[in-house]
Amino acid sequence: MCGIVGYIGKKEATPFLINGLSKLEYRGYDSAGVAVLKDGHLKVSKCKGRLANLEEKIKNDPVAGTLGVGHTRWATHGEPSEENAHPHYSDDLSVVAVHNGIIENYQELKEKLLKKGYKFYSGTDTEVAVKLIHYYYNKYFGNPIDAI
Ligand code: GLU
Repeated sequence: MCGIVGYIGKKEATPFLINGLSKLEYRGYDSAGVAVLKDGHLKVSKCKGRLANLEEKIKNDPVAGTLGVGHTRWATHGEPSEENAHPHYSDDLSVVAVHNGIIENYQELKEKLLKKGYKFYSGTDTEVAVKLIHYYYNKYFGNPIDAI
């Protein structure tokens, strides 16, 4: 089962995210990732395998900012891989999400979004939700509540 941690505050988010995810490791997972916002810029770091792999990656390429979300994935749609690891995000980085569970009609939604020109880089149902929210986010002029 996946693990999800969020942080918003005055301190650096990444240590809180990693620490929180480490407390959820017992649930089992195949990959891990974080997305952190700094000065309006989103940075995503993710990788296959243990949380220690993600920590190592972040040590070499830090992810700074005081607002973020982290995820440990238990694959249901798409193999365990870096591409399929969460967070998933829109091409313009305006929508980012982590997700627990299954979107049963994801294939139908994906086909509609493909026709609208959306591109997909993972085999997950989660990425479909991200692109769907992005579609409505633009339709509702950047209002996330209406989009969701
Ligand atoms: N269905 C999603 C995926 O396969 C979420 C899996 C999870 O709950 O970790 O990526």
